[in-house]
Amino acid sequence: MNDDKPSSDVVLVEENEGAKARDGPIIELFKSLITNDYKENTVLTNAQIIDILQKEFNINIQKIHDLEVEIYVNVVKKYLKDWPEWDEFEQSVIDFKSKNNNKAMTSILEEKYLNLKKYLGSMLEIAKYLSPDIVNNIPITGQMYKIESANKENVVMEILATRKQLNHLILRHPIGNNSIFNVNEPLPKYYNYPNSLTLDSILNWCGIEIELKLKLAQGGVINLKYENCHKLQHTLVNKMLKLDSYQKSSLSQQWEVKSKRKKLTEISKAVILNLFEQCVSNDRYQNWKPVLVSMHKILNNITQSMPSSIGVPGTFRKYLSKYGYVRFLYENVTDEVTNAENEKYDLQLQEVLSPMCQLHIELYPYSSHESIKIRCNFCQVYFTGENVSWEIEDHFKSHIVEPDWQCVNCNKAITMSHLTRANWNHNCEPASLYELLSMKQ
Ligand SMILES: [Zn+2]
Ligand SMILES: [Zn+2]
Ligand SMILES: [Zn+2]
Repeated sequence: MNDDKPSSDVVLVEENEGAKARDGPIIELFKSLITNDYKENTVLTNAQIIDILQKEFNINIQKIHDLEVEIYVNVVKKYLKDWPEWDEFEQSVIDFKSKNNNKAMTSILEEKYLNLKKYLGSMLEIAKYLSPDIVNNIPITGQMYKIESANKENVVMEILATRKQLNHLILRHPIGNNSIFNVNEPLPKYYNYPNSLTLDSILNWCGIEIELKLKLAQGGVINLKYENCHKLQHTLVNKMLKLDSYQKSSLSQQWEVKSKRKKLTEISKAVILNLFEQCVSNDRYQNWKPVLVSMHKILNNITQSMPSSIGVPGTFRKYLSKYGYVRFLYENVTDEVTNAENEKYDLQLQEVLSPMCQLHIELYPYSSHESIKIRCNFCQVYFTGENVSWEIEDHFKSHIVEPDWQCVNCNKAITMSHLTRANWNHNCEPASLYELLSMKQ
């Protein structure tokens, strides 16, 4: 017998008919422990434990929830380690091995096999009784967003959808009409605001695309496309729940750059801004002058956070303010309208806006064609005429009925005209106590 390979002991065990009849994963485990001179810290893999569950305890893991399987695996892991008979078993094994007493070895394997199986079985019995309940009560993640904090009786669902879809769903006072969904109600009333819009405001609004092709001194044409393309999120909310279910964290102030081509041409920021100044004083662009002045101001401002030279072609995007804005597209329910004492609904269409600008720059080295175009992407209208700034202002008379915004950080209420004049920035400071008190009234 080779001393390095005590596995021959196991062979002796296997010669016994009784042990053979009990060939299963637990006996296998015992044998390997004996063979390896009983190393206590033998770690079983999950696959080995699942084997024990299936073969020793007839648990059909295909028919139960993954999580239930995990519970049983952990129960076996824990109680296998905690089995109180390990020490005694080890002593006997060492003893019988030294005496080469195969018969005694076989019978202790038999005995301990039955004891361990009984012990694990009783623990699994408790787990089998408890675990299906636990598994069934696991909350489905992602659906009950922020709802937990509210009184359960008051909870109605919150829906994410487009503004148009929600407009067609919504009904402000479901109690009176006994229905949440709108069939007859007209479109919501927007708040009117009296300020007339400046050209700056219009260009900063949203979805107004300005495209300029301007000749470069070194030859060729630079193509610049600028547009404010804000990120919008619409949610149907029940204002009665006061959940504030919108993002209040700050927006990244970094430029995000996308380039389709690998080979980029460096162009200096100063060159681009200079082109605008030249255009403003060029008689050829007399009717575009107000637009060019505004555009120059916008570009001058937003490119401050860009390096002095940029690689083109590329699309550059950036959030315009540190915090987003929120508004509700319906007027608040007033006390007079709220008839029922326990009306739990004030359904509102919540709009959250993260202001973002997009600047696309591209060079056409062999072109010499200059042009300026502005279009309203909402209405698919181009403005190119003789009196272009009048055209734009006139068109925007149809756009200026909009509710005020509220900063998600300082809660200040700001009109659309005020916000757009400063390209979506405002002096973001928490409201004074006085303002907070007067807001509550
Ligand atoms: Zn329009
Ligand atoms: Zn201001
Ligand atoms: Zn603010």
